[in-house]
Amino acid sequence: MRLIFLVGLLRFERYSAPGTDSSIHYPPAAMPSPKATVYFHSLGCPKNLLDTEVMLGSLAMAGYAIAEALEDADVAVVNTCSFIDSAREESIQAILDVADLRESGQLRALVVAGCLPQRYGAELAKELPEVDAFVGTGAYQEIAPILDDALEGRGRGVYVETGHTHLYDDTSPRILTGAGHSTYMKIAEGCDRVCAFCAIPGIRGKFQSRTLDSLLTEAKQLAEAGVREVNLVAQDSTSWGKDLAALSEGGGRPRLEDMVRALDEVGGLDWIRLLYLYPSAVTDGLIEALGAAERVLPYVDVPLQHGSDRMLSLMKRGTTAERQRRLVERLRAGIPGLTLRTTFIVGFPGETDADFEDLCAFVRWARFDRLGVFRYSDEEDTAALDLEHKVPRDVARDRYRALTAIQSEIMKERLAEQIGSEVDVLVDAPMGGEQALGRLASQAPEIDGATFVKGPNLKAGDLVRARLTRVRAGVDLEAEVIA
Ligand code: SF4
Repeated sequence: MRLIFLVGLLRFERYSAPGTDSSIHYPPAAMPSPKATVYFHSLGCPKNLLDTEVMLGSLAMAGYAIAEALEDADVAVVNTCSFIDSAREESIQAILDVADLRESGQLRALVVAGCLPQRYGAELAKELPEVDAFVGTGAYQEIAPILDDALEGRGRGVYVETGHTHLYDDTSPRILTGAGHSTYMKIAEGCDRVCAFCAIPGIRGKFQSRTLDSLLTEAKQLAEAGVREVNLVAQDSTSWGKDLAALSEGGGRPRLEDMVRALDEVGGLDWIRLLYLYPSAVTDGLIEALGAAERVLPYVDVPLQHGSDRMLSLMKRGTTAERQRRLVERLRAGIPGLTLRTTFIVGFPGETDADFEDLCAFVRWARFDRLGVFRYSDEEDTAALDLEHKVPRDVARDRYRALTAIQSEIMKERLAEQIGSEVDVLVDAPMGGEQALGRLASQAPEIDGATFVKGPNLKAGDLVRARLTRVRAGVDLEAEVIA
């Protein structure tokens, strides 16, 4: 793993202990003897990964070394997710897996950070005596002094500020984890919407935007650090700018399309992908900006959640099935070469066979390029928790399978339509010989399929011209580099 350490425009590569090739990184502040060596286990969404990278940056600035392997570490931090049941179970299991090492004394400290302590800090502190500190999403910029205290045994802290999440900016130290050519950038934090199934506003707090200057500065830093692809994330990207001052005297508040136009000018970046749009907030101005952009990709990720008016109303989505159809038509008309991604929830309380049929009809009509299906699950602190007519698990499971099957046929047809075409492939990882794993502009990292590309001397970060030759397993593609 290659760690790129960014603080403003200062950039540091990997520093190993002299004469060794260990998997421990020693930023300057940790040379020649670090305070301790820390290992991070990051769970959940890309927004959480960004929080991890900023915590790593703060610790490196404070004199901590970074370990790639748990066995090399003095301290472990588990950055958790608490979005839904399965995510909470995974987080608890990850903590328990490390807790033994803390009890045995191999670890000098164990810290739990992220959405789980943000939501259940006090309860967790009672349940998990092995943990030295609990750091909510509003306190992660304090990770270094919190670790100092934990290492000195200065009390078990629960550092949680309800309803607030720290939002980093371009002056925050950040360590890029991953291959170095592709990364994320957070444009905003929190959410002011009221979707009935969602606990995020209560976890991540009120909506807050980063300024355009801060985003432009970070985008330039990333380009200088060799990043080619940046994925823009927030809980609700479409609200960006609503809480910012006007960009010019007498002008209105900045809008997402202003950011798209400005980021589209950042030299050195090849691909910029905008994720998490809220359907009823997609403006004609945004569609126009995306349609005219060069670096900002014709890729739209807009979770629609359902296709029945009754369900959209019960979900408090503030839109209708007809308006969502119109949105699909407007996006396709306004953005040439569009890749349209969405997600739906099945099994929401009160969902009838007729509602589900409406959803299936919508999916057959829209023929989305990318589609994710989730089964509804009850969440504390959400409006849907108290709704009647809960859908039995087996019915939800059958609807999940039925909708996934409809989309899988559509996906096969849409991929087959692309065979023979010339494309750009961003190489993520060589796979030996002349094979490499990569992605098209229409394939976002981690959530969309991949493209297996054949060609000489392919390296991570290469952007190569290729011809699509085959669909693989109905979700991935194969391609050959064009000389
Ligand atoms: S837009 Fe809705 S689903 Fe998305 S984070 Fe906000 S409340 Fe949750």
